[in-house]
Amino acid sequence: MKILFLDQSGKLGGAELSLIDVAQPYRETCLVCLFSDGHFRELLEEKNIPVEVIATQPIKVSKESGIIESLKGFTSLFPLIVKIANIAANYDLIYANTQKALVVSAFASFFSRRPLVYHLRDILSPDHFSRTNRQVAVTLANQFASLVIANSQATQNAFIAAGGRKKITEFVYNGFNPEKYIASQDKITQIRQELGLNNKFIVGHFSRISPWKGQDILLEAIAKCPSDVTAIFVGDALFGEDDYVAYLHQQVDALNLQDRVKFLGFRSDIVPLMSACNLIAHTSTAPEPFGRVIVEAMLCGTPIVAAAAGGAIELVENEKTGWLFSPGNSQQLADIIMTCRDRKEQAKLIANRALIQARQRFDLNVTNQQIARLLAKCQLV
Ligand code: UDP
Repeated sequence: MKILFLDQSGKLGGAELSLIDVAQPYRETCLVCLFSDGHFRELLEEKNIPVEVIATQPIKVSKESGIIESLKGFTSLFPLIVKIANIAANYDLIYANTQKALVVSAFASFFSRRPLVYHLRDILSPDHFSRTNRQVAVTLANQFASLVIANSQATQNAFIAAGGRKKITEFVYNGFNPEKYIASQDKITQIRQELGLNNKFIVGHFSRISPWKGQDILLEAIAKCPSDVTAIFVGDALFGEDDYVAYLHQQVDALNLQDRVKFLGFRSDIVPLMSACNLIAHTSTAPEPFGRVIVEAMLCGTPIVAAAAGGAIELVENEKTGWLFSPGNSQQLADIIMTCRDRKEQAKLIANRALIQARQRFDLNVTNQQIARLLAKCQLV
């Protein structure tokens, strides 16, 4: 099957890393079109997945846009829609991986008469999107998509609650190749030495820096723990959240955490880094659509604590395969960090159980087969 994948971003977020896994089996015949250039294009090229950057003006519609901004944004999209519709004529199916890609794909699918699949990786709730943006996404998906693949039940439920047609949605969890999540002991030791945190209890936070990802909650929790408890923050502000970055640094000073916290920026060696941590914290304050980092922590064999909302609840069973805490509650998070630090055997048991379960539940081969079956049905419609 010849698939035209579309993604608005050149930057590497969870949606883009997940798309690489979905596109891989189709690399002989597919094309990934991006609306802007960046590391995502480089990584696709490295994996021999055909990619083209459709360089145009940046799309101005933001997650908070109202109706006027949205309409202005749409009119500027026409050249892009025409371009994509022409390219789509050579493919069997259009696969939109992000919301702005959906907007373009919906009309391109209409003009090129190619079926449209929307991989929904966002929770369409007021926490994340303006009313207008939710309406636009749902209306276009209802009208033009043959299939909406939601990346969790939470994502699927939010789509339906926002008015999305239940009949066209299916949920498929992101898949992972477990072999990629094994780090050698030498590499782990080297990383701990490089971090200069050899005898410390390290809590890792792996996420782009953004207010709703709740890095500040982890800082508050660390300040409530004894001084051997430290944190590393792995990830960059991808979408201009400079004020929040400045706020986090002020918070480090105000809480006197300068020697206990490190910001490492974006890293591609997340497997040894996660493996070098004693605990990984997911601290989103708004519901997480899926939360790749949660499954990755499990596959690395590192205990995970996650904020109990959205897809995270589907991934973690409290005190069985990790810990859950109320989003935003830094005291609860600190208590769980201390449990992990003080009851190492219990933490190890939970991490081992999570590792076994994650290998079964999020196997990339299985999820890719599920997607292939769904796409085959779409082609027949
Ligand atoms: N990630 C990475 N390097 C970093 C920070 C994050 O490769 O420095 C990866 C992380 O391992 C995960 C993805 O970025 O695979 C983030 O996905 P997630 O679903 O957790 O969040 P999203 O970006 O989709 O909101």
